[in-house]
Amino acid sequence: MISFEMPEKIEHAVVLAETIAENMMRPVSRHFDENEHEIPWDYIEFMHTSLKALGGGGLTPGKEKKEGPRISFQRMAFQTEMLSWGDVGLWLCTPGGGLGAAAVNAAGTDEQKERFLARHRGEKPVFDAFALTEPHAGSAMPAEVRTTAVRDGDEWVLNGEKIFITAGHKALVDSQGFLVVWATIDPEARRAGVRPFVVEAGTPGCKVTKLEHKLGIRASDTASVVLDGCRIPFENLLGSPEVVQKKKSEKGFKGAMATFDATRPVVAASALGIARATLEKLKELLAERGVEIRYGLPRSRMTNLEREIVDMEVMLRSTWLLTLKAMWQMDERKPNTLAASMSKVRAGDVVVKITQRAVELLGPLGYTREYLLEKWFRDAKINDLYEGTGQINRLIVARQILDYTRHELS
Ligand SMILES: Cc1cc2nc3c(=O)[nH]c(=O)nc-3n(C[C@H](O)[C@H](O)[C@H](O)COP(=O)(O)OP(=O)(O)OC[C@H]3O[C@@H](n4cnc5c(N)ncnc54)[C@H](O)[C@@H]3O)c2cc1C
Repeated sequence: MISFEMPEKIEHAVVLAETIAENMMRPVSRHFDENEHEIPWDYIEFMHTSLKALGGGGLTPGKEKKEGPRISFQRMAFQTEMLSWGDVGLWLCTPGGGLGAAAVNAAGTDEQKERFLARHRGEKPVFDAFALTEPHAGSAMPAEVRTTAVRDGDEWVLNGEKIFITAGHKALVDSQGFLVVWATIDPEARRAGVRPFVVEAGTPGCKVTKLEHKLGIRASDTASVVLDGCRIPFENLLGSPEVVQKKKSEKGFKGAMATFDATRPVVAASALGIARATLEKLKELLAERGVEIRYGLPRSRMTNLEREIVDMEVMLRSTWLLTLKAMWQMDERKPNTLAASMSKVRAGDVVVKITQRAVELLGPLGYTREYLLEKWFRDAKINDLYEGTGQINRLIVARQILDYTRHELS
């Protein structure tokens, strides 16, 4: 049975997230926005200790296994929403299970999950990242991936360039983490030749070459990486050896898609955290100016402003329910591609609309740096871009509903 209430078992984790959001994130939100690339070590170390005590908070399996599979993704949705309400850039600096771990979970064997994810339960905070995008392969990935992986005895040799890697610097330079690199073992096979490989921090031939300067989420690093004759063990290819033998099979590529089914609703939850923060602040500032929202009135008797605020509440809450559905399907191991992409599309729209309208409605108060509203407006847009743009997720939704293939609708 679907329940959209917060399960009792995760309440303490969400209360902790709320305390962290209020006391450790909001007070330093402006500082890390203005000091891009300064690493928020206090937050990182505190989160590492807290999440370890809670049994893992990201996409890594920890003690959550004992609680049964239902809890983990629901918990992630509630925690993510709350921490992003605190500060989305800092939330992206949370150690212990990011996009790289999601790929290991989606495509790795049990042995690989243990080998690569155990480090997240160690003494020091560790980051992981995910490198699919290339200068010539964004939305058109993975068919256009040019990074190559050539087998040489017991090793793979990787060559290529990856860009826009969230937490890439933290994974490879600031911690003993890893990067999941998508490379082709057979360029002629296009998307069917693409496979995920784990490159560990410190591997010769893997170098961070650039950090982006961004509009929003400035507390989070976004890196470029060059792979130049980078040798990794044969066993670092995620999945069973079968995915190597069947060069024209789409099994390896499907690992990337499975990763997105897990991470798109997480991005949706994060977007909704920013949207809720904005709506709360908007109502608070309006109330200070004597504008109360009369929720009980018939719509025809409301002011235009009241109707707008009510519409924002509807957008926020309905998208949250959709996001919870996508997460619930993950926990139940049911196919969730449709709900995952739908929640991502909706949440990307909702957060952009709410933050933009708040800045407009409050005039100078919204536009200046007195409050965080202008920052949330800048932080909002990325939710409509990464993990597949709004346009690409709309295509996925349409294909799912119409039962069209990629070739029939692209
Ligand atoms: C801050 C940040 C962090 C990121 N983190 C990561 C990460 O950790 N790992 C990673 O691998 N990537 C990451 N990315 C990359 C991100 O996923 C890509 O930017 C995104 O997939 C879009 O690809 P692109 O930039 O090449 O745009 P393009 O593919 O060139 O698209 C440009 C525009 O065309 C539209 N478009 C493209 N094809 C179609 C179509 N068929 N129909 C309609 N419209 C279309 C797109 O929606 C977009 O609006 C990150 C990006 C940013 C900005």
